[in-house]
Amino acid sequence: MSDQVLHVKGRVLAGPDEDRVHDELWVVGGRISYERPPGARDVATVEGWALPGLVDAHCHVGLDAHGPVPDDVSEKQALTDRDAGTLLIRDAGSPSDTRWIDDREDLPKIIRAGRHIARTRRYIRGYAHEVEPADLASCVAREARRGDGWVKLVGDWIDRDLGDLSACWPRGAVQEAIAEAHRLGARVTAHCFAEDSLRDLVEAGIDCVEHATGLTEELIPLFAERGVAIVPTLVNIALFPRLADGGEAKYPRWSAHMRRLYERRYDTVRAAYDAGIPVYVGTDAGGTLPHGLVAGEVAELVKAGIPPLEALSATTWAARAWLGRPGLDEGAPADLVVYEEDPRADVRVLAAPRRVVLNGRITG
Ligand SMILES: [Zn+2]
Repeated sequence: MSDQVLHVKGRVLAGPDEDRVHDELWVVGGRISYERPPGARDVATVEGWALPGLVDAHCHVGLDAHGPVPDDVSEKQALTDRDAGTLLIRDAGSPSDTRWIDDREDLPKIIRAGRHIARTRRYIRGYAHEVEPADLASCVAREARRGDGWVKLVGDWIDRDLGDLSACWPRGAVQEAIAEAHRLGARVTAHCFAEDSLRDLVEAGIDCVEHATGLTEELIPLFAERGVAIVPTLVNIALFPRLADGGEAKYPRWSAHMRRLYERRYDTVRAAYDAGIPVYVGTDAGGTLPHGLVAGEVAELVKAGIPPLEALSATTWAARAWLGRPGLDEGAPADLVVYEEDPRADVRVLAAPRRVVLNGRITG
């Protein structure tokens, strides 16, 4: 770490409430301090509205449309996220070993969920460990040990015999698997587009559901009561009509189902939020979507009817607390993004960071 001290001034948004807004902070030895360091000579100044480094809670590093990618491609993905202000990623499943990124001070921090775990031939080829229900718990245990406190299941997918989305796992298997993950200290999340897998997963103790487009009026109170979070990935749900068009001829029931889920997506997210379900920002970058879309997802949550300050919190203060990582706290690693205008007034400000500071260093 260099001796240079960074002085961030303007409005430092350490929390959603006015009493957590400071006029300035200092970065010394890569860490945040709210006290001016004595005798600092080499001081660089950044001015504007500072937020904690943004969180993308559903992102895939080391993956593209065809499966695992070489390390130099993973590096580019991580750099694209970083330059968009995403400094903390919850990786929602990757077939690549990206552990080397942990040693790179210039790349975002990653919380991994290991590799996707799917039912045999019930997910995108090349992505997942594909197993049958009898092997689910042991596979979950392996990925729990490999990851950083999360495991990722594919909860539903098209069943080609049925011609529609359907749940991938019997209730007993997910119950056993989730209990095993919890025993090992890992939380569990699942990819779910449709309705029919959700009750079993929630009653089996799942911690989070990705996409959650299948949330219904009956299921929402259950999620709220159990405190199960959702990561809607609306920038990804925007692709449903295209997918539906592509599958129309062969799987008309599936296509119609995807279109229904798409059409009610904003109502679903708004109803979940209104019921008190924790909602977090995730882009689903890395499969078909490019990296760096975090600002677009925050804007989509606002479009769905989540108040701007709450949508901001879903990628900053609340998201970091949920993942057990600090924000702009005294002594925390200085991971922050500075904007020219107040992102609380208009979340579109997030699309153009003035400065990104990672581990105390101005990037780029
Ligand atoms: Zn994903």
